[in-house]
Amino acid sequence: MDCYAVFGNPIAHSISPRLHNVAFRALDVDGFYGRVLLENGEDLVSEFRVLALRGANITVPFKEFALVLADEQDETANAIGSANTLVLKQHKIKAYNTDAPGFMKSVSEFGVIKSALIIGAGGTARALAYILAQNGTKVSVLNRSEKRAKNFSEFRFFALANFSVENYDLVVNTTPAGLIDNELPVGEKLLRDVFASSKFAFDVIYGKKTKFLDLAKEMKLDVKDGKEMLLYQAIFAFDLFTEGEFEFTEIKKSMLYALNL
Ligand code: NDP
Repeated sequence: MDCYAVFGNPIAHSISPRLHNVAFRALDVDGFYGRVLLENGEDLVSEFRVLALRGANITVPFKEFALVLADEQDETANAIGSANTLVLKQHKIKAYNTDAPGFMKSVSEFGVIKSALIIGAGGTARALAYILAQNGTKVSVLNRSEKRAKNFSEFRFFALANFSVENYDLVVNTTPAGLIDNELPVGEKLLRDVFASSKFAFDVIYGKKTKFLDLAKEMKLDVKDGKEMLLYQAIFAFDLFTEGEFEFTEIKKSMLYALNL
């Protein structure tokens, strides 16, 4: 049997074991997927090897460690600067980022996205900015502070203090605002001005109705939360674990069932 796990801190809430184990069972794969609470990111690869894993997913706050500590890096993960998937290949651990294609697949179902505003400037924002730009979207990044501007040198970056509204097809919230509170990532007036000329709004937060998406809905935008992104990143990781053996739709069917249990 091949063993897999998700590493993070905290990790008890992770739904990844359920998604992958249900898909293993439905597709008759001899695998098991667990979860590991990691205290120190430096231990990621040694834990992976001690547990004799064939693959793993990595969540907050170890995605940068995953990229750096792996033996090999996929081109997309390298360009983004973080990895959420590790796969053992001929005794070497290779790092991938499936958050970015997972997000891209979810938002491409909205329609054509010529321009996008990403709110927030953390690791997730960088992954989303990269993949949107790769797909031909003009990307602007807006953050409450200037401090992470250096991570976005190839994009248009604005701190709140020097931002003026343009037209964006898509507006994305990548900040945790609204996750444990009822906050917006930026002031309501500014967000209303942004939404006034936008078509689609996406919040990476899932499992909770956020004020950001409520406002977007009120202003008649098409909206999505991060649940589908979570599902799609898991499908792309599963595809890497099983080396392309299954169709996307087959994996999706079983994981969708697991997600809605
Ligand atoms: P980071 O901590 O790296 O970045 C957070 C960013 O949000 C920073 O730019 C920070 O600004 C800004 N920010 C934090 N709090 C607020 C606030 N109250 N108001 C406005 N801005 C704020 O986080 P990550 O990029 O790693 O993750 C972001 C979110 O994405 C998390 O909620 C995570 O759960 C979610 N996520 C969802 C996925 C999915 O599959 N749906 C996948 C991956 C992540 P500053 O720079 O000033 O500190």
